[in-house]
Amino acid sequence: PKIRRVALMGSRAVGKSSIIVKYVHNVFNESYFPTIEETFTKQLTFHGQLYEVEIIDTAGQDEFSIFNGRHALDVHGYVLVYSVTSKQSFDMVTVIRDKILNFTGTDWAPIVLVGNKTDLQGQRQVSREEGEELASRWKCLSCETSAKTNANIGRAFELMLAEMEKS
Ligand code: GDP
Ligand code: MG
Repeated sequence: PKIRRVALMGSRAVGKSSIIVKYVHNVFNESYFPTIEETFTKQLTFHGQLYEVEIIDTAGQDEFSIFNGRHALDVHGYVLVYSVTSKQSFDMVTVIRDKILNFTGTDWAPIVLVGNKTDLQGQRQVSREEGEELASRWKCLSCETSAKTNANIGRAFELMLAEMEKS
C-alpha cells in the first residue's frame, strides 16, 4: 500500500479523537477523555489505489501547543477540525494554518477543513457557508461531519487523500 500520514489538529473538544475512533473502530463515545498523542492506522482503497493511512491524534491544548513543528517534518497532510458549535474553534483553525505555513515557508499545504458536530443543529455558531468560504480562500477541500451520526466521516479522509495527491 501507499503510506500516507495525516495529523488532526484543532481546539480541545472539537471531536478530533471521536472522528478518528469512529472512522477506525466505528464507535462513538459521549464521554470526554483528553487525548494523549496516539497514532491509528486504517487501510482503504481510493481511486483504485490501496492506501495505509496513519492518523495522528494530537493533544495540544492551546495555540502554542496545538501545532508542534515536529509534525510538519513527517506528515503528508493536515485535517484541521473545528466544531460548528464553537466560533472560537473556527478562529483557531486559521491560527493553526498560519503556523503550519510559517513553519514550512510555503503558501499552501495539504489541508482539509472539517466542521464537526453537525448533529447539534440548535447550537450552531458557524454556518456551512462560512466554512466553505474559508476553504475556498485556502484553496483546500472541506466538509462538515458528525462523529456521532457518522455523517461524512469517511468522506473527510477521502478528501484528505485527494488533497495530498495534489502536492
Ligand atoms: P478532541 O479533544 O478534539 O479529541 O474531542 P473529543 O473527540 O474527545 O470529543 C469531545 C467531546 O465532544 C466528547 O464528549 C465527544 O463525545 C463529543 N463529540 C465529538 N464529536 C461529536 C459529534 O459529532 N457530535 C456530538 N454531539 N458530540 C461530539
Ligand atoms: Mg482528543
